[in-house]
Amino acid sequence: MMSTNTQDIAARLSNSGIFRTQGLIGGKWTDAYDGNTIKVQNPATGDVIVNVPCMGKRETSDAISSAYNAFSSWSKLTANERSRCLRKWYDLLIANKEELGQLITLEQGKPLKEAMGEVIYGASFIEFYAEEAKRVYGDIIPAPSADRRLFVLKQPVGVVGAITPWNFPLAMITRKVGPALACGCTVVIKPSEFTPLTALAAAELSLQAGIPPGVVNVVMGNAPDIGDTLLESPKVRKITFTGSTAVGKKLMAGSAATVKKVSLELGGNAPCIVFDDADLDVAVKGSLAAKFRNSGQTCVCANRIIVQQGIYEKFANAFANAVQNLKVGDGFTESVALGPLINEAAVQKVESFVQDAVSKGAKVMLGGKRHSLGMTFYEPTVISDANSEMLVSREEVFGPVAPLMRFKTEDEAIQIANDTNAGLAAYIFTTNVQRSWRVSEALEYGLVGVNEGLISTEVAPFGGFKQSGLGREGSKYGLDEYLEIKYVCLGNMDRA
Ligand code: ADP
Repeated sequence: MMSTNTQDIAARLSNSGIFRTQGLIGGKWTDAYDGNTIKVQNPATGDVIVNVPCMGKRETSDAISSAYNAFSSWSKLTANERSRCLRKWYDLLIANKEELGQLITLEQGKPLKEAMGEVIYGASFIEFYAEEAKRVYGDIIPAPSADRRLFVLKQPVGVVGAITPWNFPLAMITRKVGPALACGCTVVIKPSEFTPLTALAAAELSLQAGIPPGVVNVVMGNAPDIGDTLLESPKVRKITFTGSTAVGKKLMAGSAATVKKVSLELGGNAPCIVFDDADLDVAVKGSLAAKFRNSGQTCVCANRIIVQQGIYEKFANAFANAVQNLKVGDGFTESVALGPLINEAAVQKVESFVQDAVSKGAKVMLGGKRHSLGMTFYEPTVISDANSEMLVSREEVFGPVAPLMRFKTEDEAIQIANDTNAGLAAYIFTTNVQRSWRVSEALEYGLVGVNEGLISTEVAPFGGFKQSGLGREGSKYGLDEYLEIKYVCLGNMDRA
């Protein structure tokens, strides 16, 4: 068995050539200018893995300048040249799959198998956009007069500020940086302070792949200072963010002064609707995956499991039985399905949501308390008789808590599902084809899984309706976020 000791794992990884602990500015590994650092911790043990620089305005400003300077040459390479760099980066991410997976488990906590899955998923964005780089087509428009020729060019927006969260330390970066680089943009990445090591490892591999210095920069530390510097700079033409709705709104407002393009992937409140006509096994397996992946810490995790009255009892019992079998523990221990939550604040939020639900009449079927392992481990929890008044159904719990709610009619299910400001992912379980279309069309959500709980893939668009965000990531649509459209009119074409 692999050692679960933080220092053993860190020591092994530090020999792997991907373990970087400084920021990356203009191709140089850099400390904070004032020498300040912050701790990166293993959430399973609380142990400090390493210290990384705590950067702020000055470092960010230099990173922006590096990206700005690199833009003039990177954007002028042929699509093929950029494509080859990205492909090489993809190959290196895959070649270092084991080490990257271990790094993710070490700083984020998710089980190693799931972390490996994230490496494959994260790398797939680089592969996909290496291919799409060659397909940034323009248009020729039939001219309204004989002496004119009209065409449309697609050009990179410029320097991109990419701010990412801790729940997918690799994939949230690659799905921004892949399309950005494919188009010819350069980037300043600000990873979450909780999980900078995976970001730095990915950046190291980008250099090894031959992506020129300055194209990929990474700064971390004081989030508001770094954020403000990115927002204030007229050189930064685009902000792409995944994280909380509150911070997303701030970044959108802050982008107004320099009219930046903005893409936001914000919080969800995913409904998971189980109809009477669902296949019980499919519904249990699908909801389980949609709820408990990453210990419930994803913005597409099922937040409300809404079950029709005819199947409610049967589903609740089968679901609770399945949840009971989920093993909780250190992500490096084999057969563990649920790792720790990211930090103490996350556990306190989960506790307060469960307390609120119970005080309003919900019943705890399973779990409902901290795990005996201590730290930030929480028991996988099923709550029955939840209703729309409870915090668990109004806001994202971001933890291993599944509240079950009851409904009678299809219309009622749709009404409950749409009764939220969020609109990212929704899931439905039914064997009726007409119903699956009808309900998919009625849901105000950017992603709908029908009889399936895991639907994210690099080839499909990911993004939200309403306050869950703006823009789409992944797929051919993901490129548009990094492109300007330029119309060129050639006149006087009838002169001899
Ligand atoms: P989460 O709840 O997922 O941690 P946050 O929105 O707090 O969501 O964090 C997502 C990312 O946004 C992280 O990289 C965090 O450091 C960053 N962030 C937080 N506050 C700000 C801010 N004021 N400006 C820029 N980035 C910020």
